[in-house]
Amino acid sequence: MKQTQFAYREKESFAEELRTFKRDRAAGSEPSLFQIYSEVLDPAVIREVTGVIEECFPDTPYIGCSTSGNIIDCELSENITVVCTDFELPTTKFEIFQYDMAKLSVDEITAQIVEETRKNPWVKAVEMYFTIPEGSTTRFCDGLKDIREDVQIFGGVTCSDDITSDDSCVFTKDYGFSESSIIIVFYGGEDFHVDSIKVTGWKPLGRKFHVTKSKGSLLQELDGIPAYDVYHKYLNIKNDENFFYNTLEFPLFYEHNDTTILRTPVSSNADGSINMTSDMDIGSVVRISYGDPSTIVESIRQDSQRIAQFGPDVLHIFSCAARRTFWTNKEPTYEIQPFHDISASCGFFSHGEFLRTRGNLNQHNVTLVIAAMREGEKKASAVVETQGEATLSRVPLVSRLATFISVTSLELESMNQQLELVNEKLQTAAIIDGLTGLYNRKEIQRQIEEALAEVKSENFSLVMLDIDNFKQVNDTYGHQEGDAVIVALADILRNRRIGSTQKVSSGRWGGEEFMVLLRNTDASSAAYIADLMREIFANTGFPGIRPQTVSLGVTQARVEDTVDSLCTRVDMALYKAKKGGKNRVEIE
Ligand code: GH3
Ligand code: MG
Ligand code: MG
Repeated sequence: MKQTQFAYREKESFAEELRTFKRDRAAGSEPSLFQIYSEVLDPAVIREVTGVIEECFPDTPYIGCSTSGNIIDCELSENITVVCTDFELPTTKFEIFQYDMAKLSVDEITAQIVEETRKNPWVKAVEMYFTIPEGSTTRFCDGLKDIREDVQIFGGVTCSDDITSDDSCVFTKDYGFSESSIIIVFYGGEDFHVDSIKVTGWKPLGRKFHVTKSKGSLLQELDGIPAYDVYHKYLNIKNDENFFYNTLEFPLFYEHNDTTILRTPVSSNADGSINMTSDMDIGSVVRISYGDPSTIVESIRQDSQRIAQFGPDVLHIFSCAARRTFWTNKEPTYEIQPFHDISASCGFFSHGEFLRTRGNLNQHNVTLVIAAMREGEKKASAVVETQGEATLSRVPLVSRLATFISVTSLELESMNQQLELVNEKLQTAAIIDGLTGLYNRKEIQRQIEEALAEVKSENFSLVMLDIDNFKQVNDTYGHQEGDAVIVALADILRNRRIGSTQKVSSGRWGGEEFMVLLRNTDASSAAYIADLMREIFANTGFPGIRPQTVSLGVTQARVEDTVDSLCTRVDMALYKAKKGGKNRVEIE
């Protein structure tokens, strides 16, 4: 692959340059493809450029798009830049499509693209140039899932030099100029090779937020508060016409489709919701992120080595316009310069970047996507500048502060988690008896009170239990063995085998006394269940101790009952059982 570039300043000089270019070529040879990057959106100007190309090379296809700055050989180039590509191997193929989003639905477009890749098994890469989409790009990205796993997909959202404007356009020789279309270019062939990467270098800052309310790409709430309030509270960004510009450098950072995504708000609404460019799933955990110069330089250094090793002929670069504004005191292309010596490159500052990773296509923001392509063998890889810039040996203050914030918020998060755990334990401890794991007396009393309030509509019964001659167990075998007997009875009370289909609450009333609350159960059913409890306990074996028994009192709640009157009555039933010889059930 060979790349030749031309700056378009005005018609005549460009025509002259192209004619010279034609003269220097083998007679009759037409270039493979022209690409036009234009910060100018005026269709008349664009027609002028394409007119010159068509006149000189009538058989060569061209594609073009509007941009927020053009990149040639890792430098910012002229407002209108024309790149000519020559494929050198006869096996290399490419094909151009253009789909009008105003005429076709997203599903129709993606179905057609998938079908085309099926029909063309030679395809190895799909490049996309997207005019600024009206809503979410999620449906589009998901629609391309069925493209063969090994096909790489990358591209950018076209835009204009005004980063806040919605104006954008694409055009091709066959389909013409459009403000609402997607250009798709297939590349492939036997000896065509491609690799694509993304670099961000942005780091999450501070605490996590959960997406608690969203509808498609409309992000409504984070942690239950309007999403905009998060930007206002933590970054003091106002909900006004500058919202987009001010949030640009602080995208949301989250995991999706097994990759990290940076997502900038597009605009804010009066109700505090914010518009994003892709769907924000409820439950996603997001953090505000910031550009850390040293992280960016380091990640670019590493990734440029991977690209250098690939030995490409050309690089296609899609870099978010927000990255351009980020390096305020540097060249707009400052961060991509490490790629300069690897190979020829062309690309543009975009409004969104596409990349397929792990089979999933995602649209990113504030991201740098680089596609490396070559025909045939690896080209001798250039030595990549490995040194970060000297000025970065002194880490910027903002970076230090951001680290400080990140660390303190992580510490706070972990402290909060511990507090939550302690809180949970405390809450459990407040209602659960330590020895038996049943409810404590206070809790079972509260539940009786609760059940009494509903007794008109739902009857219930109480069973009170007291282990027989328990003092003897303690005296004979010791306190520890006594505890084991108490726990054994508690396990029976907790056990489903007791056979009630209703909700059963069992509590330790004190010492070796228990209270069981049987909802929606009358006295005779309760007595039946109580007798089951008695029988099971009497048949429970204890190592080294003779079997034990328990006495039980049963009563059904009455409408006029208070907790006191009800408990007194069940206690009387229990007393009767003790009086009557123990190991028995009495109803009061
Ligand atoms: P009765 O059949 O009339 O109920 O006779 P009892 O011996 O079971 O009655 P009493 O109320 O005289 O004795 C209860 C004993 O339970 C006294 C106390 O030492 C013992 N006890 C109370 N709580 C615990 C405990 O948590 N663990 C153990 N091991 N013993 C306890
Ligand atoms: Mg007792
Ligand atoms: Mg007892």
